[in-house]
Amino acid sequence: MKRLYIIIPCYNEEQVLPVTAPMFLEKIEQLAACGKISPDSRILFVNDGSRDKTWEIICDLARQDPHYIGISQSRNRGHQNAVLAGLMEAKDVCDMTISIDCDGQDDINAMDEMVDRYLEGYEVVYGVRSKRETDTFFKRFTAESFYKLLNAMGAEVVFNHADYRLLSARVLQEFAEFGEVNLFLRGMIPLVGFKSTTVTYERYERIVGESHYPLSKMLALAIDGITSLSIKPLRVITAFGVLVAAISFVGVIWALTSVLRGNAVSGWGSMTCIICFVSGVQLICMGVMGEYIGKIYLESKHRPRYIISERTY
Ligand code: UDP
Ligand code: MG
Repeated sequence: MKRLYIIIPCYNEEQVLPVTAPMFLEKIEQLAACGKISPDSRILFVNDGSRDKTWEIICDLARQDPHYIGISQSRNRGHQNAVLAGLMEAKDVCDMTISIDCDGQDDINAMDEMVDRYLEGYEVVYGVRSKRETDTFFKRFTAESFYKLLNAMGAEVVFNHADYRLLSARVLQEFAEFGEVNLFLRGMIPLVGFKSTTVTYERYERIVGESHYPLSKMLALAIDGITSLSIKPLRVITAFGVLVAAISFVGVIWALTSVLRGNAVSGWGSMTCIICFVSGVQLICMGVMGEYIGKIYLESKHRPRYIISERTY
């Protein structure tokens, strides 16, 4: 029978874990009772360097029931790295993983359908949010623009899919070869390929506690997503540069003819506008290029993407 590992990143979740952990356990038991997965399946918590009692709670859970296991990162490295650490920990000991947040926002019951799809032969099953009613207008608008922008920039991502997904061990083995340190899992998994499908689910409000994804982190993730998956922004810059250069060329001819005709006036206003505009464009372009150079810099160091300091087993 197929062994499932549920991968759950946790960062400062002492309030949430005692509520949601039993829900995951119940789900595993229920799936095992139907004979869909092996009773030997596990719930793997990844403590992402929490500063509260999260790790103690995970250790307690592991003592209570053998289905609960945990690993702890040596420090906080962010959600994507935590999920990766869990996936890599599981890849050799399971047949499939499902990654999910620990806050109960994603409907756990979608796992049934995910496992069904896996048993039908799909290697990747993306959890896709059916609607965004529980989100504020602002969150919904920014999130949807995020997916549209990503796709427009050439990064292939599944619309309204975050990090709730099932992966087969085969996909995990191949994915382990993707050595980049700039992680954007939802954009990288489609690159691995294999037969994939989607399952829709509803996303609820956080049970307790607060989101760790404020606007600043969301923007950082969006920029990371685009720049680690696509070089289209560089092309856009080049195209824009050509356009500005062409316009400038016309401007130079115009200026020269004006001088030759002897009607050059003190064009302070137009001069200032041109300088401001062109220098602004240049700075933005340099920023975009800097973003890529920064990525090359980070990749060239080959630093480890996660460091596991403790395990409950
Ligand atoms: N998380 C993490 N490391 C971080 C931030 C978040 O492991 O640095 C985990 C967090 O515990 C949760 C998941 O990532 O399980 C999603 O975080 P959150 O619910 O705060 O984000 P949102 O659902 O609001 O996007
Ligand atoms: Mg959440």
